[in-house]
Amino acid sequence: MATRALRARVINPDATLLAALKRTHRVYNVLLRHMVELYLAMRKGKRGETARQIAEIMLKGAKNAASRIMEGLTAKEWPSKKPDAPNSWWTLVRHRRKEEGLLLDRHDSIGTVDGRTVSPQPKHGTRKKVSDPSRLHVSSKFWRWLCDDACEVLKSNQGQMDNWRSEYKEWRNVKSQWEKDHTEFMAFWNGLYERFRQDCERKRIEAQQAKGQMPTLRKRGGRQWGKRFERWHLWPEWIEHHPEIVAWRGQATAGDFKPVPPQEKDALRKRFKRQDKLSKALLDKLREYNPELAALDDLRRRYEDDHERFRRAPTLTLPDPEKHPRWMSLERDCLYKDFDPEKGTIKLSLVGENADGVWYMDWFDAQVQVDPRLKPSFRREVFRREGRLPPFIEGRVGRKLSQPAQRAEERQSGIAGAKLIFKQGAAHLTFTIIDQDCPSRVKPRKVADRRCPADNIFDPQGERIPLRVLAVDLGVRHIGGYAVAEGHFENGAWSVQHLTKGILTGPQVPERFCIDAHHRQLKRARRLRGKPVFDEESCVELQDHVTHMGEDRFKKAAHAIIELSRQHDVHTILFENLKGFVPSARDERWANRMRIKMLRRKTVEMVKQQAGEFGFLCNEKISPRLTSHVCSKCFRPGWRFSMKAKQSWIEKKPRAQCRDFGYPAWDRGGHLFRCPHCGYGVNADINAAGNLVAKFFGLWPDEQLERKDWVYRWKENGEPRRFAAKAEFEKWSNGVRTRKEAVQFPY
Ligand SMILES: [Zn+2]
Repeated sequence: MATRALRARVINPDATLLAALKRTHRVYNVLLRHMVELYLAMRKGKRGETARQIAEIMLKGAKNAASRIMEGLTAKEWPSKKPDAPNSWWTLVRHRRKEEGLLLDRHDSIGTVDGRTVSPQPKHGTRKKVSDPSRLHVSSKFWRWLCDDACEVLKSNQGQMDNWRSEYKEWRNVKSQWEKDHTEFMAFWNGLYERFRQDCERKRIEAQQAKGQMPTLRKRGGRQWGKRFERWHLWPEWIEHHPEIVAWRGQATAGDFKPVPPQEKDALRKRFKRQDKLSKALLDKLREYNPELAALDDLRRRYEDDHERFRRAPTLTLPDPEKHPRWMSLERDCLYKDFDPEKGTIKLSLVGENADGVWYMDWFDAQVQVDPRLKPSFRREVFRREGRLPPFIEGRVGRKLSQPAQRAEERQSGIAGAKLIFKQGAAHLTFTIIDQDCPSRVKPRKVADRRCPADNIFDPQGERIPLRVLAVDLGVRHIGGYAVAEGHFENGAWSVQHLTKGILTGPQVPERFCIDAHHRQLKRARRLRGKPVFDEESCVELQDHVTHMGEDRFKKAAHAIIELSRQHDVHTILFENLKGFVPSARDERWANRMRIKMLRRKTVEMVKQQAGEFGFLCNEKISPRLTSHVCSKCFRPGWRFSMKAKQSWIEKKPRAQCRDFGYPAWDRGGHLFRCPHCGYGVNADINAAGNLVAKFFGLWPDEQLERKDWVYRWKENGEPRRFAAKAEFEKWSNGVRTRKEAVQFPY
């Protein structure tokens, strides 16, 4: 079982709807704050002893206990048929109603939002149209939801507090044990050291008064107390005036104290201009001369680090529509209904405003753009392909399937709830889906008389619909080149129609040269630092940064590939087989190679993981042999090259606008490709992606091609031909001056 959040965006909301969404969010958060404050007051005993007991029961109770209890505390008529039982909430509630009256009259007011008194709608019999701009009637379901959610806020805070308390207790025990074990140190800490601190404090106050400032007071137990003392640069000086400090455990006397010689001190003063560095150096020197002092100082540091203070208790942050929003949870039939993911329609219960400025709660129609995984038809298709049972699509957890499932967990899948979220001004609904586990890999079937990988997709007897594929050739510089093509099966063979080609880019994908720059920086830092000693950490933050950038890159790359597949609605995603991957000569370093390999491998893994969910097949077994050296249009050998000597200063324009890229230069790892036979010129990665498509559909004349030192032999119409690539290239490149002449494609 997996729980995942799938998003639906509210599309094209008109001004009324958007305002209503935001108003509802505001009303909800303001009222939630009122409720949390009310519960807090109850728990602290400000609303009477009975209310305190009730609040404690409420905070321990089940998920919807709070709304039932609040019903009893706030409704004028409360039918309680339950028998009296000691220490149960309804006995307490009955007692409270009889003795002290209602906690608050919910039909009068439960809070105010923007000058409007809010109360739940009266019962159906007494319902009347509101036309009072100073009142707002929310639905009773909204009110109940509010009671429960406020209770959840407090419960989560209470959980954190409980954790903190138990950890604090543990810390106190460890601390007292440590203090018992180090009595000599504690004598120093409470005696001499306390005097030093008081000196610091006195000096601070004197200094502030000398400047004519009001000295800041420190309260014991306040936030400032226990922080590392700021005047610690006085510490080395203070030690020199108190040589008795070395006698702290009776192993030395005040006479044994060795101060730093004046000439050494002067040298240090010249070397370190900054006060903090100087103090540190002085203290190091003192420690060097006095081993007793060093032992004491070590203990002091340890005590300060481990035992002086404990982290602050977690704070309860009250909900606020702007600063700390709590996104509103929506329950089906309560705050949303009639959700149709196929059509993208939904009805939401929102707070609207009419022309007279009256606020009212009503159902609003909204259009949503949903994640395809929310659509029943899509899910049915995916589930059929993966051999799972169709889940109950629209409903709560635990409802029965129309088709009985074999296991309980198969029955429990569907939409569990939704949340209203605002992100950069746009409203989103996030649906929580409880989903059955997807098989880790979706495998294509094996067909007996297959001629090419594309035959595996269909049953031999089944109908062969046009098969749409996305081929990706992962690159080193950018994410890679792609080609989207559609294969048609006619008369026992596939024919391919190319739909679109291009370079994969995603928004905010970290550039490879950025990662490389950081990598060089890292190498340089390590070289300067030298060999690390055992257990030493070096450049950890920078290393983490580089790793995270790499991760970010492959995740965004995978996302871009999935997005593209969804956009073109493809059946299969093709990758080259990475097993035989040999990086080009320029990437000689092992680490460099590994990095590229890792990113490729991880990108493919990530795509495979997500492809299953979206119902795409993945084929990463296509042989990369010669894909980047042969033309994807006529399947004859071509050239790979790059444009050298980009001389922007001649054209006096920014580099990106220059038309003259210099001259083409033979480069087996170059980023451009040109076919001399048919004149096709394109980015090399795009050409390779086109070749992957050809291999997938069995159009590639692999057995006819062989290469030796850039001399190709192949058979054309049964006739052997020979083509010396490099020599031909030299002849051609002499006449080419601009990049436009070299390749037509704008990459
Ligand atoms: Zn060609």
